[in-house]
Amino acid sequence: MFKKRVYGPVPSRRFGLSLGVDVVPFKACTYDCIYCQLGRTTDLRNERAMFYTPQEVLTDIKDALQKGPRPDVITFAGSGEPTLYAGLGEVVTGIKALTDIPLVLLTNGSLLMDPDVADAAARCDVVAPSLDAGDADTFRKVNRPDPGVDFDAMVNGLVAFRKRFKGQYRLEVFLNAALTDNTEALHRIAALIEHIQPDAIDINTAVRPVPGGMELKVPDHVLVEAQQVFGPRSSVIASFRRAGGRAFDDSRITTQDVLESLLRRPQTLIDLAEALQAHPQEVLKHLALLKSQGQIQSRQSGKDTYWSAHEG
Ligand code: SF4
Repeated sequence: MFKKRVYGPVPSRRFGLSLGVDVVPFKACTYDCIYCQLGRTTDLRNERAMFYTPQEVLTDIKDALQKGPRPDVITFAGSGEPTLYAGLGEVVTGIKALTDIPLVLLTNGSLLMDPDVADAAARCDVVAPSLDAGDADTFRKVNRPDPGVDFDAMVNGLVAFRKRFKGQYRLEVFLNAALTDNTEALHRIAALIEHIQPDAIDINTAVRPVPGGMELKVPDHVLVEAQQVFGPRSSVIASFRRAGGRAFDDSRITTQDVLESLLRRPQTLIDLAEALQAHPQEVLKHLALLKSQGQIQSRQSGKDTYWSAHEG
């Protein structure tokens, strides 16, 4: 069956209008993450392969660009781990010869210690590797890697790549209930972040049950704590949905708006987003600041985190 190697452009909150390039067959990956929205990994591997010829991939990209609309970025992502594709370097060279549209690489980071992978990644404009655990044991439980992937070597690859990469380095941390939803786990991840020194840290969690029905979403107060522990370069990117699937508004709000609303009554993150007509990610930033100032507190009620403000 013909495999679509290019899709979109599709809107992405982080990168704008993104043309997706999918260079591995479904689902070739070095990991089998418990939270993967694509389901279980059917081709768990650590060996790179020439799944398609670079010419085939480049022809698809050229066609999509000619057809339009012009995307803001071209993103390697899709059916598995893109750095498993042995033609990645050649395709990066081909895209750079074709257009000046910035190139984004979404990767789990497991192969960045490979010199060929690092060379190809270094020529992208944005590289967004993952780091979901602060120790080898949690890494095995969350990412369920191919036996050939060693945790320390993976982290060393993330650190070494930072030293050579001149573009934007965005580390994505996916938090999971019962595994990385506690203060100790957050601090272990933060210690590695300190070592890696990314430009930005994107915090994510599963807001819907993942295939297989597991509930992995961490409570909102953990997202706020993670922002505090990971520092000012971090922000939450989880894609929250509201009832009826309507999109959230995106109005600009201030920390004072959030505080005043909470002084009236305790609310959940989604209540606040509805009341202030703002996106939950925007509200979370202000909650993290207010919490660090000791002006608000959280209380867990079932699955919901309620926020309230101290009087006076
Ligand atoms: S690294 Fe990405 S594609 Fe691979 S299993 Fe994890 S979430 Fe899925």
